[in-house]
Amino acid sequence: ATPVSIMVGSGRAAQMGLLFRSGAALEGLGEAEVVALDKTGTVTQGQMEVTDVLPAQGWSREELLRVTAAAESSSEHPLARAIERAAAFAPALPSSPSQATDFQAVVGYGVRASVGGQRVEVGAARFMEQLGVPLGSLGGQAEQLAAQARTPVFVAVGGQLAGLIAVADPVRAGSVQAIETLKAQGLEVAMMTGDTRATAQAIAAEIGVERVLAEVLPEGKAGAVAELQAGNKKVAFVGDGINDAPALAKADVGVAIGSGTEVAIETADVILMSGDLRGVPNAIALSRATLRNIR
Ligand code: ADP
Ligand code: MG
Repeated sequence: ATPVSIMVGSGRAAQMGLLFRSGAALEGLGEAEVVALDKTGTVTQGQMEVTDVLPAQGWSREELLRVTAAAESSSEHPLARAIERAAAFAPALPSSPSQATDFQAVVGYGVRASVGGQRVEVGAARFMEQLGVPLGSLGGQAEQLAAQARTPVFVAVGGQLAGLIAVADPVRAGSVQAIETLKAQGLEVAMMTGDTRATAQAIAAEIGVERVLAEVLPEGKAGAVAELQAGNKKVAFVGDGINDAPALAKADVGVAIGSGTEVAIETADVILMSGDLRGVPNAIALSRATLRNIR
């Protein structure tokens, strides 16, 4: 690699809103064969909104929302913010407690807290399974919601199911086109998420991705990248850094979106200054052109 062509590549990159951390990053991206995309906050906006509130018998929508929001108040997950916003619109009941204590995040599963002296657990179906809380008819409803690309979370109060809340996270404007272009460039595209398989499949269908790695726990994301690297394939991982810094580090090239977390931006080899995924095929095209220039 001659320093001159790398500098030229980097100058054009800056104009396109791309930041290559090094000459090796600029060269390496052009050699990628697989692009793995994180779902939440990367393919999607990461701006979740509550779409459905389904209380179990004995619960009202308002009470379910308020108890859940209380339990989520210390969580940093975008799901928690969505539930808090929805609860802010629910009329306050004199009887409903809203202060939580003993908060605990169970990474990849959900959260646990004590609200008004009762244990409240909020999370994925696999969390309820682990706790031994039967889902009853809400299990089937959750599957239907997941098939519509919504993420269902269950709420247990005192070890009993209190209801189901679903959130939606819209796909970013540029995602579909970005994936189309990546495929036209000859790349294999995969999507990775901690979300439920059915939800992940529905989003993947919406954006045209066939290879889906779902229900990947945060500590499993680097291993999932290794899975994609099988057969010595060069993998570029694109993420926003929430739970995926190890995947960014494990990939042959880590790409962080500019709206992502500080740790993502520190770990990545390439940074997309905008949150638009179309920066990924642009960066690959630029990198390939640079490689052609130096060879
Ligand atoms: P991702 O970043 O891919 O969305 P996470 O590992 O953060 O995945 O979360 C995986 C799943 O764990 C979520 O889809 C949800 O079901 C559950 N979960 C995680 N955090 C919370 C939370 N604060 N409240 C409720 N459920 C949660
Ligand atoms: Mg995430």
